[in-house]
Amino acid sequence: MKVYNFSAGPACLPEAVLVKAREELVIYGNSGMSVMEMSHRSADYEAIINQAEKDLRELMTIPQNYKVLFLQGGASMQFSMVPINLMTTYKRAYYLKTGAFAKKAISEAKKVGEVIVPVSSEDKTFSYIPETTPDMFDKNADYVHITSNNTIYGTRFTKLPDTNGISIVSDMSSCILSETINVGDYGLIYAGAQKNIGPAGVTVVIVREDLIGKAPENTSSMLDYKIMADNDSMYNTPPTYGIYIAGLVFAHLKKEGGVEAMQKRNEEKAALLYDYLDSSSLFKPTANKKDRSLMNVTFVTGDAELDKKFVSEAKTQGIVNIKGHRSVGGMRASIYNAMPVEGIKTLVSFMKEFEKNA
Ligand SMILES: *Cc1c(COP(=O)(O)O)cnc(C)c1O
Repeated sequence: MKVYNFSAGPACLPEAVLVKAREELVIYGNSGMSVMEMSHRSADYEAIINQAEKDLRELMTIPQNYKVLFLQGGASMQFSMVPINLMTTYKRAYYLKTGAFAKKAISEAKKVGEVIVPVSSEDKTFSYIPETTPDMFDKNADYVHITSNNTIYGTRFTKLPDTNGISIVSDMSSCILSETINVGDYGLIYAGAQKNIGPAGVTVVIVREDLIGKAPENTSSMLDYKIMADNDSMYNTPPTYGIYIAGLVFAHLKKEGGVEAMQKRNEEKAALLYDYLDSSSLFKPTANKKDRSLMNVTFVTGDAELDKKFVSEAKTQGIVNIKGHRSVGGMRASIYNAMPVEGIKTLVSFMKEFEKNA
């Protein structure tokens, strides 16, 4: 039975993409072989990676002075690569502490230089996005790091902080391609693929060219944006099959109307769930209303035993992976681009049923 998979990541992929991948699994085009078996230097593979980049550029309207890199190591490796490469002029950066991944980014950055944390929402279990003002940011810093969408707590930045002209670096692992953004507002954007792009194993980095080439000389080649950029992500063997699937997702998104259409759908999908949560007398949404994520919807009943019962009964209805992160409990419905609206409708009607019987 095909289920509705509300996993936070690795997460559901568009069914049309999986079907296409199955069609091409054994023999790709005229190559006589699987994409998995191809040399990454072959003409067939070059066409695949180039098209993937071209489509991503088009979807996000990425300006020419930004490089697109397909790397490995997940978003977690970017927690290290970002400070190693960018924390090089002032050896100081600001990190907004809005969740568990922000905390991990902070702890890696501290190994490289000085980390200043002007605001944190840890006092209320990261249930909101703290306000910032430009005077919190002194000019003598290399960047300001934010986590655009906080996957575990279900919050998101609905507007960018005014950083007094300092470049913004954003972890967009769980919201890339979910709503339109202006890439030019950022110095660097990174995202692990397994939430909104494709299979785990690929990490997308979009970086303004003037930020490349600042890593210290003793930096390992694999951790140096300049080496990755100069070699078009092919300094070594890239995650070839993952990039191919990401490319299929990009082409699919284009066909579906691009990021603008995704945003509209995502807003409608999220509203279905939040509207019900706001009206329910059993379920309570946990994120501050104005900071609600479009991608990860977190809620509780207030009774851990009842939460458990809900999660296990949902599973029998084909609603799976709806349990909240182990650090916060409760429930979390991750409703990335690939989650069809029918999945949300099925979830909401099951919740209504559960509430009636509780
Ligand atoms: C999932 C996630 C990560 C961790 O990604 P890995 O690819 O497992 O390293 C980091 N940041 C955010 C916002 C995430 O959602």
